[in-house]
Amino acid sequence: MSTLADPVPGGRPGDVERARALSGELSGRGVHGVVLAYVDTAGVGRVKTVPVAGLASAAAWGVGMSPVFDTFLANDRIVATDVLGSPDGDLRLYPDLDRLVVLAGQPGWAWAPVDRITQDGDRHPGCSRTFLRRITAGAARAHGLAFKAGIEIEWAVGLGSAPDGEFVPAASGPAYGATRQVELSAYTADLLAACAAQGVDVDQIHPEYAPGQFEISVAALDPVGAADRSVLVRQTIRAVAHRHGLRVSFSPAVTAGGVGNGGHVHLSAWRDGVNLHAGGDRRHGMTAGAEAFAAGVLARLPALTAVTAPSPASYLRLRPSQWAGVFTAWGLETREAALRLVRGTAGRRAEQANLEVKPVDLAANPYLALGCLIAAGLDGLTAGAALPEETTGDPVRLSAGEAAARGVLRLPVSLAEAVAEFRGDEVLRAALGPVLADAVTAVRRGEIDAVDGQDDERVAAAYRWVY
Ligand code: GLU
Ligand code: MG
Repeated sequence: MSTLADPVPGGRPGDVERARALSGELSGRGVHGVVLAYVDTAGVGRVKTVPVAGLASAAAWGVGMSPVFDTFLANDRIVATDVLGSPDGDLRLYPDLDRLVVLAGQPGWAWAPVDRITQDGDRHPGCSRTFLRRITAGAARAHGLAFKAGIEIEWAVGLGSAPDGEFVPAASGPAYGATRQVELSAYTADLLAACAAQGVDVDQIHPEYAPGQFEISVAALDPVGAADRSVLVRQTIRAVAHRHGLRVSFSPAVTAGGVGNGGHVHLSAWRDGVNLHAGGDRRHGMTAGAEAFAAGVLARLPALTAVTAPSPASYLRLRPSQWAGVFTAWGLETREAALRLVRGTAGRRAEQANLEVKPVDLAANPYLALGCLIAAGLDGLTAGAALPEETTGDPVRLSAGEAAARGVLRLPVSLAEAVAEFRGDEVLRAALGPVLADAVTAVRRGEIDAVDGQDDERVAAAYRWVY
């Protein structure tokens, strides 16, 4: 479990001693530096690094970094809100020692996610990891709920030698094909070894649909742990690829016009160790709480896409009949509905049943995405929201009348539409708080302006090597 306690100046009890012992141990293992990782509002992974000798100081007093990164765009331009984006001020980055790992794909380095607090020792209202901790702690306090989450990772593997900016798939062969598995077997074996060395439990890895595309899924964790893990696994996928002369992209649309890279979220709510999505008397074994939770997520999906599909490139991926789930529908094991109820295998349903949210990609900041999905679900739970009739098959085939009767809507077709939905959504804005909510709006608008008037190919190219 991730700790739900905020960092404090001087370090939480025991942290400094622990960091001192860790830095000795790390030095002994040939580690020289620690990567301090966080994700900005645009979903871009940003880092600072310190030598291992600086770990105890970082655990006590943090490491300085400007708050301006909260309003960075994917192209490194900076936008502003009324409180963010100014060159003034500083924040302290605190590594979470519970999540520190030695990076198997980057010899000499360890990695830890950070929380950001102010120089006065207060929570930074723009810190997405702190936000998800707060949502998780609130759910435990107010509802007695805990969550398990897993984020699938799809990525495209390209040749490192490709001309600058271009994507040339590093493997040929059919979707899910044995050909591709053989061609990249040295890379993927090293990736599995690196994950195992880092304590990451991999469920499976396989060649995916699009050219050069692969997917990895890892075991579910608590929400903060799952978001951390998603960042770590992507760092590992990239690092191991680099050592093999390969270049990877997690962008929602590596090229325009094909199947994209998704970042489907699996989420389950638990009370007193019991999974709400199994063993109940509602549809497919759901409890009343699980239905209401799913209804809450379903109702807010149009607004949620501004958080879960945050890039102009996200809308090149979010197209019907490409398994990205672009309709506000739910169904049992339905891969074209935005919400797929995963019931699990007979005999293991109590542990496996969960809700899969498909219109999520890896441009999303995973802390913001999970926090907002949980907030939407909790709102449904509190309101006792009714889950509409389920959908089977591809919702694109529903007549207008059938779709209307079931409340099935097409999700936003552009980032501009998503932002308009988000701005009108009081539940998500309240959950995020004004600082983060305004940062989301400002950054999304900045991204829209950055590619204004560009065709799909140029939009794909603009984000190809950012994510
Ligand atoms: N690549 C698809 C997406 O963009 C998902 C494929 C799958 O279901 O695994 O979401
Ligand atoms: Mg997939």
